[in-house]
Amino acid sequence: MSQPYDVIVIGAGPAGYQAAIRAAQLGLRTACIDKSIGKDGEPVFGGTCLNWGCIPSKALLDASHKYLDAKEHLGEIGVVVEGVSVDVPRLIARKDEVVKGLTGGVAALFKGNGVDGLPGTGRLLANRQVEYIPHDGESRVLDSGHVILASGSVPMEIPPAPLDGDRIVDSTGALEFSSVPARLGVIGAGVIGLELGSVWNRLGSEVVVLEMLEDFLPMADDRIARDALRILRKQGLDIRLGARVTLAEVQGDAVALTYEDSDGAQGVEVDKLIVAVGRKPYSEGLLSSDCGIVTGERGAIEVDEHCATGLAGVYAVGDAVRGPMLAHKGMEEGIMVAERIAGFKPLVNYDTIPNVIYTHPEIAWVGRTEQELKAEGVACNVGSFPFAASGRALAANDAEGMVKIVADAESDRILGVHVLGPQASELIAQAVIAMEFDASAEDLGLTMFAHPTLSEAVHEAALGVAGHAIHMVNRKKRG
Ligand code: FAD
Ligand code: NAD
Repeated sequence: MSQPYDVIVIGAGPAGYQAAIRAAQLGLRTACIDKSIGKDGEPVFGGTCLNWGCIPSKALLDASHKYLDAKEHLGEIGVVVEGVSVDVPRLIARKDEVVKGLTGGVAALFKGNGVDGLPGTGRLLANRQVEYIPHDGESRVLDSGHVILASGSVPMEIPPAPLDGDRIVDSTGALEFSSVPARLGVIGAGVIGLELGSVWNRLGSEVVVLEMLEDFLPMADDRIARDALRILRKQGLDIRLGARVTLAEVQGDAVALTYEDSDGAQGVEVDKLIVAVGRKPYSEGLLSSDCGIVTGERGAIEVDEHCATGLAGVYAVGDAVRGPMLAHKGMEEGIMVAERIAGFKPLVNYDTIPNVIYTHPEIAWVGRTEQELKAEGVACNVGSFPFAASGRALAANDAEGMVKIVADAESDRILGVHVLGPQASELIAQAVIAMEFDASAEDLGLTMFAHPTLSEAVHEAALGVAGHAIHMVNRKKRG
């Protein structure tokens, strides 16, 4: 019988692979099993994020942003570029190269840290045993002191719009179009709908986004969501709210979409359709019937705040469990669990998870919104600062959006930070750090920021909480 492992991780997405690396760093004998097969038919580590999620979508977002800049905006600043065109096969090939580099990097990190990377399927049996079924070999049973389930999530589907892998696709298919669809439909104005809708819109598609809710980005700050909707519509995304899709039918080379809104039944025809209506936890084939673990609502594995399942020594992390389906949330959970197994007592602070939507301008936030706090009767002060008054944003010809900071009226503690603007994904890290350290808006206001930087907008918004931002006329002077 083989020597037992201290830790077996099932799933090598960001939650699983980071758990495995951290466990190995801490001297634990660790294996990580993953069944993913990459585009070239070879086993890959990295999960959804590296292969079909965060990384490939950002490669296309960055490339399409550069293309649009060259085509439409560089002329505004006196840089004349002629004959700009897009080479879709090259764009996709470069995206694949980035993915390959990074997934290969995970394999190298496993090797370097002494993690046994095991390509194939893992299944939890009773008594913390794991059945490992390699892609091409005999299955075997592995013993382990601890098991971490990190099986991730998959796209949700809706009956009116069954995927056909060609005309009607999910996010994975939308990363692989071989040419720019002339007319693109997107179901769902959530994160994926907006990001991938933006990619193809920038590259030339006429994009219509059908969202069943009346509210746009209801989880974001109201003002930021309103401004973002206006800007994205101006960019050409035809976002239709309160639109519930009832039928999507492939008719020859097109997809005929029927939806209902407040005016009744409507129709629109597109060449490709992306279904982006959310993701659900994935645990198919992961749990044997006698392993002792059951899944709860929407298929999520039930865990406590330390990601422990009810079963001693068995944990679950990332998209497979409750909470936002974000790579960094899963990474922190994976690291927390590895460290807890090694005897440490770290925690994940679920109150400071940053959210980013990588449109342009980017939308990012952490903590609570003003509307949530008001609904709960929490008195708060708000400071905001527009990028239109930021020297650096104006110099960069990229000055749409704002920073908004919400602080407790009594203690001045920062409760939420909301950014719509250039590099919001980077700026939000400052807010996360401030909130981790329980900073007040005054603390941020007293901090020196380099000039000229976009970060100064964070500084000014913090000053604005007390009513004395410098580069705008303050209506409320509080101190
Ligand atoms: P996953 O990454 O889904 O990995 C789970 C792995 O487990 C998979 O490789 C799967 O094959 C494997 N597995 C499952 N069951 C078994 C089994 N029984 N045996 C062996 N292996 C198994 N998040 C962000 O934070 N930022 C972004 O910018 C971002 N962009 C995204 C863009 C898109 C288009 C999509 C689809 C998602 C995006 N996400 C983003 C979400 C992010 O990808 C997920 O939150 C993240 O990948 C979850 O990590 P995970 O490790 O929990 O699961
Ligand atoms: P989402 O939950 O962000 O958005 C889905 C949208 O579809 C919602 O607005 C919902 O109201 C709408 N919808 C649902 N059913 C519908 C229907 N029948 N008709 C019309 N609209 C409908 O989900 P997503 O965009 O698919 O993304 C899935 C998850 O992946 C996200 O929750 C996020 O956690 C993660 N993700 C994160 C990033 C990022 O961090 N930048 C990027 C992509 C994905």
